Amino acid sequence: MLDLSVLPVTRLSGVGPKLAEKFARLHIKTVQDVLFHLPLRYQDRTREFAIGDLVPGTEAVCSGVVMSSEVAFRRRRSLICRISDGSGTLCLRFFHFNQQQQAALREGVRIRCFGEIRRGPQSLEIVHPEYQQVIDGVAAPVEQTLTPIYPVTEGLHQLSMRKVTSAALEYLQKAEVTELLPALHGYKISLKQALNTVHRPPPDIRVDELLQGIHPCVQRLALEELVAHRLSVQRARDHARQQNAPVMRGNNELRDKLVKSLPFELTGAQLRVIGEIETDLGKGEPMLRLVQGDVGSGKTLVAAAAAAMAVDSGYQVAVMAPTEILAEQHLLGFAELFEPLGLKIGWLKGKLGARQKRDSLESIAVGHTHIAVGTHALFQKDVSFARLGLTIVDEQHRFGVDQRLSLREKGLTEGLVPHQLTMTATPIPRTLAMTAYADLDCSVIDELPPGRQAITTVAIPVSRRLEVIDRVASAIAEGRQVYWVCTLIEESEVLQARAAEDTLNELTELLTGVNISLVHGRMTGAEKEAAMTAFKNNETQLLVATTVIEVGVDVPNASLIIIENVERLGLSQLHQLRGRVGRGKLQSSCVLMFEAGLSNRARDRIAIMRESTDGFVIAEKDLQLRGAGELLGTRQTGSMQFRIADIMRDKHLLEPAKKLSEHIQQVEPGNVELLVSRWMGDNAPDYGNV
Ligand code: ADP
Ligand code: MG
Repeated sequence: MLDLSVLPVTRLSGVGPKLAEKFARLHIKTVQDVLFHLPLRYQDRTREFAIGDLVPGTEAVCSGVVMSSEVAFRRRRSLICRISDGSGTLCLRFFHFNQQQQAALREGVRIRCFGEIRRGPQSLEIVHPEYQQVIDGVAAPVEQTLTPIYPVTEGLHQLSMRKVTSAALEYLQKAEVTELLPALHGYKISLKQALNTVHRPPPDIRVDELLQGIHPCVQRLALEELVAHRLSVQRARDHARQQNAPVMRGNNELRDKLVKSLPFELTGAQLRVIGEIETDLGKGEPMLRLVQGDVGSGKTLVAAAAAAMAVDSGYQVAVMAPTEILAEQHLLGFAELFEPLGLKIGWLKGKLGARQKRDSLESIAVGHTHIAVGTHALFQKDVSFARLGLTIVDEQHRFGVDQRLSLREKGLTEGLVPHQLTMTATPIPRTLAMTAYADLDCSVIDELPPGRQAITTVAIPVSRRLEVIDRVASAIAEGRQVYWVCTLIEESEVLQARAAEDTLNELTELLTGVNISLVHGRMTGAEKEAAMTAFKNNETQLLVATTVIEVGVDVPNASLIIIENVERLGLSQLHQLRGRVGRGKLQSSCVLMFEAGLSNRARDRIAIMRESTDGFVIAEKDLQLRGAGELLGTRQTGSMQFRIADIMRDKHLLEPAKKLSEHIQQVEPGNVELLVSRWMGDNAPDYGNV
């Protein structure tokens, strides 16, 4: 019997060395890989829509008679052709066209077209539709089945992808793909049937079920993928646990001194999490712990207590943050807590003077520095620690898995790897955490320090900007401090910076006598630090900033935050920004300013922000609105990209996937490797390479 998992892709007709190279870029090497290269989505060309029923954002087939056809010269030369079918008109727009096409699309001709429907200036439109003329009122029949659209890479077209998958499916008729899931999953569908259906949906399939991903064949495959994902993460976790880590069972003198030096008592939740960390650190296997805590829940102190325990046992600590501002904040925070207790805090970031850098590196290398704080710079090759025992990563979801790994490689020379503590202020809904962070143990700081008052949130249209500025003035008059956050849709730091500067000028003019600081991504580290310090010390009362202040900034006297253009921000980001206030005992407020003409989604987001201040509730909504990738920020790293599964849609499969993977581990451990390589290929995380 042919084993498709080892049959090279070049055995398929039409696949030569050139194509094989492109396939390799998609991690496709064998015929089985082709079969598991599943359609991303489908186009529905099986029915024709009336123009009046078209929905922007969808792809559809429709037809109509050309009412007008003309070449326009606005900005770019284009051919604009309007068609109508009595129910409405649709504009077809071509930027590239030849005389022949122009002649074919003349008035009175009846055509059928396909493409993505967009909102145009006057009516709905399709840019560069596929089209054909309908002769004598008889159109070619529409497609019988849904058209699969595959993930492709440059130079690889849908058409060749479809040909190659067809060839692979022919092999599948002659051979078998091994069933690797234990039969107890309850689906009466064979793998073969599921693959056939998903690649080439039969004409009588329930189209909606397939498009929504709830068809049993899709679900059967999604379940297997979730099982494979789980197994790969578990395997990585097992590898990691088999390594040795420093046993930290010091007398915890420093930790206790630290706690005593605080002007407040730790909350029960903080104490519990510190206890969990203490247990981990004493075990001799590397801690892999994620601490989740809503904004303002006091994660910094939990991190500090962990650092103290490591130092108590004679080890060094690395504290890493994703942005310079946040790293600087940690530097100040740790220095404030630990320098009075006699510790040396080191500092590493990208742009450091040569001399300062050499000193920092030297001090870390010989072990004088107890706690090194920094950005990505801590990952660099030239950094070596004398006795690194613990790494603390703040806002880890912004770091890729690879970066997490390279940090582990900075471990001790005597075959020990450092413990790792990850902190995140983006609460991750349980469903998602179970899958995304299955390799980590989770602790939750589920209690806010006492005396916090709920933040009031209001939404105000930008037309009432002057009232908002008035409000800023009175808050400052009462001795409070205020954030003003400028946002722009463009991911351009230059434009963001300019918007912030414009706002600064405007507010300087209107708020006489108020000292204002400015922070944006185009400033140097020293400039940012100076501005932040001035605000922190209440030398300036207003901080105009871009979203760079999203995470971590802590100024308890600030009680009002204005966020502009809220329609452009996601829920989690809004929640983080709002969390800059309400960090002390003051009654705080958040003003969300919006432009007129809000979309329904933006309206929903604003309503959620007004209703809830609970990070977990907000994260769950965000997940529903935007999907897992956005929330975890892992879109680029790909660690949460599934081929067919969708965590939200397939929530109900997570429990069964867990059961099945446990069964496989116990009863058919040989299948673990096969499943992981079938679904993850060389993408599977490997924590064992240290
Ligand atoms: P986050 O979880 O957002 O990082 P921080 O650690 O920055 O929160 O803490 C937020 C604020 O609460 C800080 O000003 C900190 O000093 C204060 N804080 C932390 N723990 C407590 C506590 N147990 N009681 C009172 N205030 C606390
Ligand atoms: Mg923090």
